[in-house]
Amino acid sequence: MDFHWNEDQKMLQEMMRRFVDHELTPWAQKIDAKDKIPKSIRNKLSNLGVMGLTVPEQYGGAGADVISAVIVMEELSRGSCSVSLSWLAHAILCADNLFHHANEFQREKYLPKLCSGEHLGMLALTEPGAGSDAVGIKTVAVKKGKEYILNGRKVFITNSPLAHVGILYAKTQPNRGSRGITAFIIEKDFPGFAVTRWIEKMGHRGSPTGEIVLEDCRIPEENVLLGENQGVRVMMDGLDVERTVIAAGPVGLARAALDLCVRYAGEREQFGKTIGNFQLIQGKLADMYTEMEAARGLCYRAAALCQVTERGGKGTELHKLAAAAALFAGEMGERVSNNAVQIFGGYGYTMEYPVNRLYRDAKLYTIGAGTSEIRRTIIARELLKM
Ligand SMILES: Cc1cc2nc3c(=O)[nH]c(=O)nc-3n(C[C@H](O)[C@H](O)[C@H](O)COP(=O)(O)OP(=O)(O)OC[C@H]3O[C@@H](n4cnc5c(N)ncnc54)[C@H](O)[C@@H]3O)c2cc1C
Repeated sequence: MDFHWNEDQKMLQEMMRRFVDHELTPWAQKIDAKDKIPKSIRNKLSNLGVMGLTVPEQYGGAGADVISAVIVMEELSRGSCSVSLSWLAHAILCADNLFHHANEFQREKYLPKLCSGEHLGMLALTEPGAGSDAVGIKTVAVKKGKEYILNGRKVFITNSPLAHVGILYAKTQPNRGSRGITAFIIEKDFPGFAVTRWIEKMGHRGSPTGEIVLEDCRIPEENVLLGENQGVRVMMDGLDVERTVIAAGPVGLARAALDLCVRYAGEREQFGKTIGNFQLIQGKLADMYTEMEAARGLCYRAAALCQVTERGGKGTELHKLAAAAALFAGEMGERVSNNAVQIFGGYGYTMEYPVNRLYRDAKLYTIGAGTSEIRRTIIARELLKM
């Protein structure tokens, strides 16, 4: 498999690296401490043209591929996982999904403002009683004339406290299980839509996470995505791409951890020598590098496969590989950030050094967008052809 980037991908990587080194990393500790991403960072991301990265140019996007999305996710996560998560929810879970499933009217209405960054996007699936069991959602949508009336609750929705628009799943035929789910395009100003809680988290602080309440929320019928009861197709079609892109998060995080540790190991002295002289520290650094590169390889291989595999692919090589990339990278992030805190010793345990932020951020990658247990289940089912 060829891992050489084309010219566009190389330029994108270079541009993102510059942005992360000079404009994002210096803010990362503040974003974590204040639990807020400054508007200036969001504006800069819009100016870089990555808010509609994978959406075609005719709708205001950059028309880039999945490898490019992985490059952006890896670089942003190296600077701030909070920013990369918010970007992922907007650009991949919302805008990319919307492009792939919307009709022409919906694309023209919603994509240009999402791609320019004027509007922030979200994807609302999870509910208090339905996380891993996503098709067990209880939010209902009942058709009345030319509108649907929705009642229910969504929880843990990234960007929801600030989002203008999003994809939201509800049951239109609750007795049909997964075949009774419909995906809707929702706007924050639709009557009956409210974000009732801004959830405080241990990591990824700054990425806004909220709870949504729908009380007789009215959505016009033209906002159904793909068709009534086609929601599970919308849900499944984007999963391999989502898992592949999210796998790049812990890869970027691990790069940040390793860079910090290499520098610290060359500066911190104990027993009259820098700690980088001790073989037990050297072993940790070597393991961190090796695991990070293994995850990185898996992640970019899945991205390359995304480009040649039709979306929606149960039973495909990609379905296993994308789940494997997210699984391995997520758990790698935990191990690498744990080693990073260890290498920094007591200083690593304080809020003054960034490694404790990386340690807290890493945990989400084994939970969000499918837990490690669910990823293992998917891989095993594919292997056993169940
Ligand atoms: C910061 C953050 C951001 C998020 N952003 C979004 C978002 O933007 N949009 C959105 O829709 N959702 C979002 N989520 C929700 C996320 O996708 C869910 O938290 C995740 O899918 C797990 O669901 P749950 O939390 O309900 O855990 P549960 O499903 O209740 O799982 C609890 C435990 O049981 C295990 N378990 C469950 N079922 C099985 C099984 N069959 N076999 C073995 N073990 C099992 C799980 O692995 C886990 O360890 C976000 C979550 C967080 C924390």
